Amino acid sequence: MNEQFLQYIWKYRLLNPELHAEGGEQLTVLHPGIQNTDGGPDFFNARIRISNTVWAGNVELHIRSSDWIRHRHQFDPAYDNVILHVVYENDQVIRKKHKEIIPTLVLKNNFPASIEQKYLVIMQNHYWIPCLKLLGGNVSNTLSLWSPALATERLNSKSGFILRLLDEYADWDEIFFILLASGFGFRINALPFELLARSVPLRIVRKNADSVFRLEALFYGQSGLLGRHPRDQYRRALLNEYRHQQVKYSLKPLQPGLWKRLRLHPQNFPDIRISQLVQFLFMCKAEPGFLLNITDHARLEEVFQLTASEYWDRHYRFGKIAGKKEKRMGHSSARLLLINSIAPFLFAYGSARDISPFRMRALELLESIEGEENHETRMWKTLGITAGNALESQALIQLKRNYCDLKRCLECRIGLKLLDKNPMK
Ligand code: SF4
Repeated sequence: MNEQFLQYIWKYRLLNPELHAEGGEQLTVLHPGIQNTDGGPDFFNARIRISNTVWAGNVELHIRSSDWIRHRHQFDPAYDNVILHVVYENDQVIRKKHKEIIPTLVLKNNFPASIEQKYLVIMQNHYWIPCLKLLGGNVSNTLSLWSPALATERLNSKSGFILRLLDEYADWDEIFFILLASGFGFRINALPFELLARSVPLRIVRKNADSVFRLEALFYGQSGLLGRHPRDQYRRALLNEYRHQQVKYSLKPLQPGLWKRLRLHPQNFPDIRISQLVQFLFMCKAEPGFLLNITDHARLEEVFQLTASEYWDRHYRFGKIAGKKEKRMGHSSARLLLINSIAPFLFAYGSARDISPFRMRALELLESIEGEENHETRMWKTLGITAGNALESQALIQLKRNYCDLKRCLECRIGLKLLDKNPMK
């Protein structure tokens, strides 16, 4: 038994129809009150009837009534207006400051046992999601109604990172550049790409944005991937150009060991992605803000179908010849950039400047494009829950990482649906 479960029982009034206070008086819950997650009593502005008197005020919940003393509420004026003490077990009579007894309702045996049994099933297993064995039935409807709020939660948490960048850079273009670059690293190399963008200020990128060769020298040089004594001609030429830029701009390269290739399809190697990032910067002359003016989502996706430079037609890594193949970014990768970089940027920009149309655009963008395919969305699919678009796939990711993994089933709308089967309501 825990307090969170008691709060859930109280909040949703999953109680037996006939209730009595500890003194034997009939007790009716007219309104459970508004849950308070800050300091002070657990519920504000509740209304209850005890015998024939209606009381309005606050409600405090505890596992044992003696917890009131243990938590020293008797000395705290915030608890003076408590009209009801709701406890699982009444092990001590509790009095307020002026010695009057606080009316007490004992929950033990006053709610259907089936709710507690299901709750225990959820809380005491190690399945991929705790409610896995109870899912069944139709939860898709509940989920699609909840998806916009879940996706907004996810955008909000991504905004946190973007707004912290704003403290550091105070320049939206620079932040957008860093965010986009980090997107080019996808999940595995997001951090090295972020560090790479941070190591090359946008003003230096702009000075070199009229030449793919100079941009590649700049980015490959900073990535640490050029090595010291390259044998192939293109890499040597890049290194010579980079040495010149390194001195000119006092640049410090990253450690090459930062880059990860394990379990990546060669097409997604960072070596290829850096060239595609360069193509993007060359195409927009290092002015990424132009993307914010594109409202046609299909066009936005097209922008990112970038092709790495010619050298990469025969390479996946520097110096290692491979069969000829153009290295063009695929639809699903382009879509991931929209999901993980463009939508969060629109949302954060709208939040920071209080421009709600930008926040709306972020949600509309997600709603209009196909959802991502990853381990989480595939697992949901095996449970019969399919994302119809990116808003729903983002919602499913948020649900798994921020509710299921933390066992926040009592705050989850699916959890409420699964547990709230009180036949007496
Ligand atoms: S948080 Fe919701 S979906 Fe996740 S396991 Fe709990 S009840 Fe199920």
